[in-house]
Amino acid sequence: MRSWGGLPEQPQREVHAYWREDVLPLMAEAGLACGAGRSYGDCGLAANGVLLNTQQLNRFINFDDESGVLHCESGVTLDDILRHLVPRGWILPVLPGTRFVTVGGAIANDVHGKNHHRRGSFGCHVLELEILRSDGELVCCSADSHSDWFQASIAGLGLTGIILSAKLQLMPLSGGRLLAETVRFDRLDEFFALSVESEQNYEYTVAWVDCLAQGTGLGRGHYIRANHTVGVLDYPASTSGLSVPFYPPFSPVNRWTLKLFNTLYYQRQQARLRCSEIPLHSYFFPLDGIANWNRLYGRRGFRQFQCVVPLDTASYSIGDLLACTAAAGEGSLLAVLKTFGAVESPGWLSFPRPGATLALDFPWRGASTQRLLGELEAVVVAAGGALYPAKDAHMSLAGFQQAYPLWEKFQSFRDPALSSLMAQRLMPADNASEVSA
Ligand SMILES: Cc1cc2nc3c(=O)[nH]c(=O)nc-3n(C[C@H](O)[C@H](O)[C@H](O)COP(=O)(O)OP(=O)(O)OC[C@H]3O[C@@H](n4cnc5c(N)ncnc54)[C@H](O)[C@@H]3O)c2cc1C
Repeated sequence: MRSWGGLPEQPQREVHAYWREDVLPLMAEAGLACGAGRSYGDCGLAANGVLLNTQQLNRFINFDDESGVLHCESGVTLDDILRHLVPRGWILPVLPGTRFVTVGGAIANDVHGKNHHRRGSFGCHVLELEILRSDGELVCCSADSHSDWFQASIAGLGLTGIILSAKLQLMPLSGGRLLAETVRFDRLDEFFALSVESEQNYEYTVAWVDCLAQGTGLGRGHYIRANHTVGVLDYPASTSGLSVPFYPPFSPVNRWTLKLFNTLYYQRQQARLRCSEIPLHSYFFPLDGIANWNRLYGRRGFRQFQCVVPLDTASYSIGDLLACTAAAGEGSLLAVLKTFGAVESPGWLSFPRPGATLALDFPWRGASTQRLLGELEAVVVAAGGALYPAKDAHMSLAGFQQAYPLWEKFQSFRDPALSSLMAQRLMPADNASEVSA
């Protein structure tokens, strides 16, 4: 397996667990669990090069139609859950930008969606976890029982043990479509004004920004806000069928196509406001429409950069990040900007916190991309913000320790048999020691 951004050059070897009984023997060989491999950087790559693939642990254990509590194995995907439970009137309260991630992966990175201002992160809706340690100990934990294990394992980057199963609280759903409004904005301060106004009245908010616009165009984009409709509960079972079947010899993603794409995308909406009724998957998961779209970046792959910066100075920091990106000419196909609210995440290493979050992706060009990532991180660190481990492969040790001050406490909950390339870089294992549940 390679990460979604194309790391490492040689795919890592995988061993597969089909039943929960398979997991412990496989932990003797594998150095980290993996789910669907949708993390962009190195948090999902094993330090010893062998991954324990949990995707076949994909059974529903129980669903209570009255309370909306789902108990499932960790390899169940969010798509599996939506396909079965949307028609029954339930939805996951937090959905990231792809439905093809596993429950284990969503918990280990404590993923967020477009409604953080209302529902917080994925971990806020996890009721219970079952974690297997490499010494055979089974830890069952929740917010009330063995809560330190719970807080270490949500956003625990797969390092506290293998998550076997989880109980999740689902949210009642009124209809299978969304009523969406797209508002064109010309400057960053308009984005922030729209966020304040929209968070009161809309469940979901997100914006696309033209990250290559400079001067008077800096910070222009489209703000998309939506609420559920009331009506038929349907969820299309299939995908569009479009796919990128192989790595093209030359990536079509380059400075010129990026500039053209960003300009045309911004101009595709001439009116300030457009309303539409759209299926859930078109709003939540636009990129899932083309399978293996990451191959468009070619064999060298690409890097994601996602940060969160405090709200009071966000218009300056986000402006600086966009100006740096535009000046470097590296360009990003999709630049996503949204705000996080005040709902606290349960994980010690959770990324979401109040502020504005910007995500950018860059074709990997070696030293010049590395330099830009360093410049962007410096802006975030100076602002007192954080980078998102699920998207990262370059964060500095100092930046990590500043943004995640509970990392030392976390170290003592690590499983000594598990380590990722990210953990080697950011949490040297000699600080790790075991505690017992
Ligand atoms: C198109 C796209 C859009 C995205 N949009 C968003 C978004 O809007 N918000 C957001 O937060 N993220 C987003 N992401 C990132 C993605 O949601 C996370 O990286 C997620 O963790 C991937 O889950 P996965 O199943 O692929 O896990 P993997 O990438 O395989 O693994 C991720 C981590 O989970 C651990 N892990 C996996 N399974 C287990 C297990 N059973 N036990 C213990 N540890 C385990 C791994 O060790 C690793 O540390 C997006 C990714 C893509 C490709």
